[in-house]
Formats: sequence, structure tokens, C-alpha cells
Amino acid sequence: MPLPEYKDLLLPTLKKHFGYDAFRAQQQAIIEHVLEGNDTLVIMPTGGGKSMCFQVPALLFEGVTLVISPLIALMKDQVDGLKANGISANYFNSSQTAEEQYTILEQVANRNIKLLYVAPESLPGLSNILNDRFISCIAIDEAHCISSWGHDFRPSYQQLGFLKKSIPNIPIIALTATADKATRQDILDQLQIPHAKQFISSFDRKNISLEVRPGTDRVKQIISFIKKRPNQSGIIYCLSRKNTEQLTKKLNSNGIEATAYHAGLNFNERNKVQEDFVYDNTQVVCATVAFGMGIDKSNVRWVIHHNMPKNIEGYYQEIGRGGRDGLNAHALLFHSYSDVIQLRRFALGAANEDVQIAKLERMKQFSEATTCRRKILLSYFGELLEANCGNCDVCKNPPQIFDGTIIAQKILSAVYRLNQQEPIGMVLDVLRGAHNASVLEKGYQNLKTFGIGKDIAWKDWQHFIIQLINQGYCEIAFHKNNALQLTEFSKHVLFNGAKVPLTKPLHIAEPKVAEKAPRKKAKRSKTTTEDTLFERLRKLRYNIAKEEDIPAYLIFSDKTLIEMERVRPMSLMDLMDVSGVGQHKAEVYGDEFIAEITNFLGAKLKKEKKKATHLITYDLYKKGLSIEEISMQRKLKSTTIYSHIAKLHSDGKNINIYDFVSKSEVAEVKKAKSALESPSSLKPYYDYFEEQLDYFKIRLALSVIENA
Ligand code: ADP
Ligand code: ZN
Repeated sequence: MPLPEYKDLLLPTLKKHFGYDAFRAQQQAIIEHVLEGNDTLVIMPTGGGKSMCFQVPALLFEGVTLVISPLIALMKDQVDGLKANGISANYFNSSQTAEEQYTILEQVANRNIKLLYVAPESLPGLSNILNDRFISCIAIDEAHCISSWGHDFRPSYQQLGFLKKSIPNIPIIALTATADKATRQDILDQLQIPHAKQFISSFDRKNISLEVRPGTDRVKQIISFIKKRPNQSGIIYCLSRKNTEQLTKKLNSNGIEATAYHAGLNFNERNKVQEDFVYDNTQVVCATVAFGMGIDKSNVRWVIHHNMPKNIEGYYQEIGRGGRDGLNAHALLFHSYSDVIQLRRFALGAANEDVQIAKLERMKQFSEATTCRRKILLSYFGELLEANCGNCDVCKNPPQIFDGTIIAQKILSAVYRLNQQEPIGMVLDVLRGAHNASVLEKGYQNLKTFGIGKDIAWKDWQHFIIQLINQGYCEIAFHKNNALQLTEFSKHVLFNGAKVPLTKPLHIAEPKVAEKAPRKKAKRSKTTTEDTLFERLRKLRYNIAKEEDIPAYLIFSDKTLIEMERVRPMSLMDLMDVSGVGQHKAEVYGDEFIAEITNFLGAKLKKEKKKATHLITYDLYKKGLSIEEISMQRKLKSTTIYSHIAKLHSDGKNINIYDFVSKSEVAEVKKAKSALESPSSLKPYYDYFEEQLDYFKIRLALSVIENA
């Protein structure tokens, strides 16, 4: 089929199979380029929508699209996702039996399959079908794995150059989220497609909000952060295996479902943690950086760095695991000098020590920034943002600058009195006048500067010292026990009256409730989520996913559920208008979702109606109408009106209850209540009074007793 005919099919194909109404920036241009038979390189950030760039063409090509992918877990996820959309796809790898593999080859030969995923190692098994009779296109996912300059080099990727040589006339599309220029050209050279057109998207992930906080009491802050987000999946990156385990324990004891993930676990254990997270069985994973590579989970709502990453590449990749569905996600980084010092220690002695330390320095600058963080991040990747982002902590809370000269003088003179021999912690102890063993041992309590900074919190002193370091007024001597030392500039402040601008510390107030709540209550907060339509749909999705044994987000993304909640479709036609609902999913899951929506709305309407009816009675009651009159006017039985009166009274509305039931009757009912041991229905009372006291009086009396 010539391209113009394809062109008209692109949007309908997207809508029919994936349920989306429009292509994202660049997607259409890329897809057209591939369909024209051209080699292509796609550079797009994680979550940008790379898969669509070869999946849509695959549906339009006659033959099979071969997708080279490095990890079995990733392949499985993508194939499950395609199948959930009714697209015929499969993978081919060493975990399958010869028989299974044969069946797949047959599918290819019969053109019964649109996409076939394969790891480079397994390519030889496909030699019989590796020709243009069967294959229409080759997609190479995670293409940076081919370059030893990339951060995730895989030797098995290096042989892929043979593909272009052996089937020169079918297009290759290589895709990666790695931006740097040298790697890009290396990828193309190695794949033998040096002139392939490059499509490079912006690296800005606008939906991820960025925040950095000082690392003091970070565990407490993390607990409170998670409690504010019940049911939201998140990842916490830690520096060491020990960190992950300790943090997991603390979270568990605070009623949060969390598991640890690190290289110390065996293959099966790691798989289990990963799967439980992907399937929404575990809310939080505390992990080392080993976690995440094989994970496509689209509804990770937040990523926390318990410790500072060692470079911006790592940081960006890790926060990129949040918000792949395009909904808002939060990236929170805790910054502490002890992390910087430890990371420096790791870097020392490495072959590329200088590079590592320079990268750490950039990471540190990012953490300490007082200007838009996204600008800093993107400029690191060579992209310039014109305006401030508005979605980082600095943009949201611009730092307030004040004259910090006196504070600076106090810090610098303490450093001076300590003979420039002590690290930040000790300088702070001296300023704050701490009487701890190490202070007393060295006799620092006798220094002139001892205790001159009692009025300022430890955390805030730390914030000020970091700024002095950044402005060059003092420095850390990493080779001398991390001692804080003076610089050339210090003199100007100490002796020449130079003014030092400082920014006020930001005090992040997490709600106190969650932290102070007793254990029991805290536990409950995990499970009690509001009964919203979204929660109902989420549960339905979870149950279906369990039955089908695929991750929940492959059924429908969070974004799609949110739109269902908003639009409330009650028919298949309406449901198909929701973004993310294609024809196949509508047919397979539509009825269940519509039933859930209808039920929810029905119950809600009923509730509202009920609520309204007793309030109407209240209005009439307030106008002075008698029960009989209200009953006549509303065409309702008087017993119904009495039940409204009872409800209004127990709701605390202003009802003269003794107009309807006497004090002695109330006393009698009270006696009956204790004799009957508080029965749960009214019938036992009715029998107790030998049918002589009306139901409505019993109900009213009970209402008086309960509200006494
Ligand atoms: P990447 O591989 O670049 O990390 P994915 O291909 O996994 O990203 O896409 C991320 C998410 O965006 C997926 O949930 C995908 O379905 C969705 N998506 C892709 N293209 C579109 C589009 N045109 N409209 C809406 N959602 C899209
Ligand atoms: Zn910003």
C-alpha cells in the first residue's frame, strides 16, 4: 500500500486498537517515516510513547514486525499489553520449549501475528524466517544497549549490525531514552544505518513535579508523605542494601505495605518483589538502583530518593519511572552532606574518578539550587527551558533572601576557633552548645563561640552552612576528615564587613495527624480509602487483572479510569469515547465497567434521594406542620414521617422530641433495652411491650437514649 493510503488509516488505527484520539508530538511523523520504509532513530524520554512508534506501523504492515528487546520481563509486559488490546503478538526466547517455539514460527509463516518480541541471544532460532518474505520491519528497543558508551551496555546487542546486512530492504527503527550525542551516532553506526533520520523529543517530563528537602528526619517525613497518598504506588531509592531493609521495617511497623529490593536477594525473590509491585499487591518498594530497569508499570505515582544519587543521569532515569501514564507524579529527593561525603568516598580510586566526582558535584548543585530545578536538569541534557517550570519546589516557593551576614560571621568564626579541623556536625554542635561526649572530650565548651547559635534550629544551621559553601565562603576538605575550612572569601566576611545574602529555610509542614496518630489509627488509614467511583473502578480492574494474571495497568491505565470517573459512560458507545478504551477492550471489559459505574451512580442517587426526603420533612416540620399534615402533604405514611423525625433528631437537628414520645416511655424503652441486651432490631422491643407501644415511639425513644 502506498503511503497516502496509510495516512488516512493512522488515526483510526490508533483509536481502534489503543483507544487514543491523537498522536503525541513526533509520533505521527515517526510512524509515517517508518511506513515509508526508512531507517529511523527515536530518542524519547521514558513514558514518552516510544512503543506506539513501531506498534502502529506493525498493524499496517503486511508481515511481522520483529522487536528486539533486552529483558524477558519487558517483553512479557509489552506482549500482555498488546494482547489486552486484542493485537496478536508473542515473544520468542530461551524460556520456551521447542514445541512452543515451533508454533510461533508457524504463526509467523502464516502471518497470524503482528509483532514478535525477541532477545538478541535468541535471534539465531529465527534464522528460517529472517527474510523480507515474513518480516516487514525491525524495531530495536533500548537501543543504547548496543553502545559501550551508553550506561547499560549489553554485549549481546553488538551483533545486531548483521540485521541490516542480511535484510537490507526492510526498515529498522531504533528507540532509546538515552540522549547523548556520541552514543546516538554510535548506535547508528553499529546498526549499519548511519544516515537514519533522528527524531529527538524534548526530555522534559512536565508531569513529574520536583522537590528537594533536607535529609534530617527523613524517615518521619517519608512516612507522613506516604500516609497522605494511600493506594498510590511508589519507589524509594536507597544507597545500600542495609538502608532498604531498615527503611522497609520502619514503614511496615507504621502500617505501610513495603518490601525491600536489592542485589542480595536471589532471582526468585527479586522477581516476586517486582511482580507484587507491578500487580499492585505491594504499595511501596524500598530499593537500590538495581530496581526498575525491567519495569514498565505506568502508574507509579511517586519516586523518593532516600539518599542522593551519584549523578544526574541516574537521578533522571529513576524519577522517570514515575508518571509514565502522563498523570501527575512526584519526585522527592532528600539531600544530606553525609550522603555527599559517602558518595565521594565510593568514587575515590575509581578508574574515572575525576569524571565521577565532577558528576557528583553537578548532582549536589542541583540539590542545593535556588533557581528552577527543571531548568538545571534539562540544561544538563543540553536542553534550554525558556521560562521557569512552575512545577518544582523552587518555582512554587521561591526562596526569600535576607541579610545573613551575622549568621555567616557566627559560622565562620566557629570554624576559625575550631582550627578548621572539624566537620560540619561538630561545627553545628559547638554553635548550638551541645554538651555531648565528643564536644566535652575536646574541651570545646570553653570556646567563645560555644552556644552562640542556640536560637536557630540544627536543620536551619545546616541550610545556612550549605549556602556558605555554595557561595565559596567556606569549603569541605574531603581529604582531611571532611573538615570545614575557611577560604579566601572568608576574610571579607570576618574582617572587611562583606554582606552575605542567604535564603530563608523552607519549613515543609507535612500534616501532623498522620505522624502523631496512634498505631491503630495509622493502620486503619492505609485501608480506608474514600468510596469514590475511581476506587470502585480500581478494585474492579485489580480483580480482573488477578483473574487474567496480568498487571492491572494493562487493563486500563489510571488516566483512563480517571476519565471514566469524570465522563461516567453508561453505554459501550460512550465508553469508547474515553481515551484509552479501544474496540477490543470495550468488547471484553466494557460491560463490567459500565455495570460498576451504573451501580455506583444508582446507589449514590438513592442515597441522595433518601437524604433529601427526610430534609423535606424537616422543612415542613419547621413550618409548624403536624406529623399528620406532613404525611398528607407528602403522600407518605405517617410511620415514614416518624422515621424521618427520628433520623433528624439523631442527626442533631432541632426537634422537640418529647412532643412525640413521653419521658416515661423513654424510661420504659431504656429498661427494655438493658433487659433485652440491646437488640439490633425493633421487633424484640415491640414484643417486649406486647405490641402496646408503636414502632415509631420505640424508634424515637431509642434515638433519645442514644443521643443522651
Ligand atoms: P516509553 O516506551 O517511551 O517509555 P510507552 O510506549 O510505554 O513509553 O508509553 C507510555 C504511556 O503513554 C503508555 O501508557 C501508552 O499507552 C501511552 N501513550 C502512548 N502514545 C499515546 C497517545 N498518542 N495518546 C495517549 N497515550 C499514549
Ligand atoms: Zn521550576
